[in-house]
Amino acid sequence: MKVLVIGGAGYIGSHVSRELLDKNHDVTVFDNLSSGTRENIFREETFIQGDILDTDALDSVMTQGFDALIHLAAFKAAGESMIKPEKYSVNNISGSINILNSAVKHAIKAIVFSSSAATYGEPQYNPIDENHPQNPINFYGYTKLQIEGLMRWYDQLKGLKYASLRYFNAAGYDVKGRITGLEEKPENLIPVIMEVASGKREKLKIFGDDYDTRDGTGIRDYIHVTDLAVAHVMALEHVLKTRESLTVNLGSDQGISVMEMIDAAKTHSGKEIPVEIVARRPGDPATLYATSKKASELLGWKAKYSDVDSIIKTTWKVYKKHL
Ligand code: UDP
Repeated sequence: MKVLVIGGAGYIGSHVSRELLDKNHDVTVFDNLSSGTRENIFREETFIQGDILDTDALDSVMTQGFDALIHLAAFKAAGESMIKPEKYSVNNISGSINILNSAVKHAIKAIVFSSSAATYGEPQYNPIDENHPQNPINFYGYTKLQIEGLMRWYDQLKGLKYASLRYFNAAGYDVKGRITGLEEKPENLIPVIMEVASGKREKLKIFGDDYDTRDGTGIRDYIHVTDLAVAHVMALEHVLKTRESLTVNLGSDQGISVMEMIDAAKTHSGKEIPVEIVARRPGDPATLYATSKKASELLGWKAKYSDVDSIIKTTWKVYKKHL
């Protein structure tokens, strides 16, 4: 299969590209390298540096003819999206419109899209299934919800089939150790813990220890990025085969607390992780975890590497190299 991976030099995109290459697909990566890195480009793939706001560049790459595309090009910092909505609406929403229009123009049959648990907003119940109401509480989640809506319309009006994958907390690194690019200025829990363990950051700020959870810290569903990558390829194959669009959660179906993550990082790194308890971060629910039953029934997918130990071990292995 000939696949275009937009945002393929980023953290999740590079893992998805690796999985496609492992399955002998022909991969072209289109990325503006704003947060992706050249270190994440594999020699077996074609790389084109370009921006999704540049419709000529998109059209020019899509004339090469692809069976499908995977769209992972988006800004993803929920906190920043509340301060700079313009940045998020232009890149995430306008950029996605450009991709959809170009895909239709060049008769691409299917698109796999990185959606997010952020589209659900404040959980009304856990585990969250795909029928949970979608009321995002940050602008980032709103952009993802808008794109889901656009894809439904393009399916109905233009026959462009889609797989919308609602990720929970992506974490970990390639289980075979082939991806080593680090994220710049991370804000997510695990990379921040890793920067503290490797001495790059002084301490971890824990955003609240007075939640109604087993140890007072926030509980999330961490899904290993290798498991995510596998799901992308399965979803793509499913949509092309059945010609039916789909929307599924991708999570580990387990809730892990901030404290439990810190403890695992201490154990596997052998390093101290100084912490400071600070105020809760606005918009952070106490507990959020998925049920991925639908993905398992529809695709036969199951998370294999999403236990805390595999997540921390594969991540520490990469951070250790940068010590
Ligand atoms: N968190 C924290 N300190 C940090 C980053 C995150 O205590 O520096 C907590 C956050 O409050 C949440 C969990 O870790 O309970 C996961 O946050 P992250 O930003 O990684 O993902 P989110 O669930 O917000 O998408």
